[in-house]
Amino acid sequence: MSNSNSALGLSRRRLFGLGGGVAATLAVGASAASATTNTTGGTTHLPSHGRRRPRTADEAWTALRAGNDRFVRGDLRHPHQSVERREDLADGQDPFATVLACADSRVPPEIVFDQGLGDLFTVRSAGEVLDDAVIGSIEYAVEHLHTPLVLVLGHSGCGAVQAAVDLVHNGAELHDSISYLAHSIEAGVLRTPRVGSDAEYLRACVEEQARSAARTLRERSAIVRHLVDGSGVRVVSGVYDLETGRVDRL
Ligand SMILES: [Zn+2]
Repeated sequence: MSNSNSALGLSRRRLFGLGGGVAATLAVGASAASATTNTTGGTTHLPSHGRRRPRTADEAWTALRAGNDRFVRGDLRHPHQSVERREDLADGQDPFATVLACADSRVPPEIVFDQGLGDLFTVRSAGEVLDDAVIGSIEYAVEHLHTPLVLVLGHSGCGAVQAAVDLVHNGAELHDSISYLAHSIEAGVLRTPRVGSDAEYLRACVEEQARSAARTLRERSAIVRHLVDGSGVRVVSGVYDLETGRVDRL
């Protein structure tokens, strides 16, 4: 990423930040309304449009927790998905959290946390495996977009972690880049005590992989480490349950 692009990103963010502040101020008077019917008969949710962006790691987690609670209950707001929001974001972004999640189709962060356009800077790779592209993407989010929270999100029944378990314990033959993924997770599997049922062991390996990815991110990225030490950025991990929809912090 060139310096000129970075400067442009910061400049746009500053401009967008001003716009967001105005929008938040203007929305105060409408905050009592829960929703209004649009011309196509659907609903447009007004309050979330003007809601203040979380600025600290604690605020960011609170917003994610609240969104996941809504998802678990089936009480979704689908915030920030209007035409107005889309147009607001055309000149810049100001996401409040970075989420590194597995690429599994059942774990889309924007849906399981009930967020919308511009809310989450999402990076996904099978098994939350870190490589330079993943780490560079996260560095961009924390350094230039100033997301205060990085969440590494594993999930129950993860096929990538299962492949690493099969590699370690069953000598499974894996080919090409699938092998790279499994070998990247292998060390975490070897660290995990093999107790309980197969499902319990896989869950323990999933938790270890999410913790390990969060730890490795801090170790490998001087930028992330610097912001964790000096600017209140936090790197945390969690696991999503495919059946209940709930995300638990580790
Ligand atoms: Zn997975």
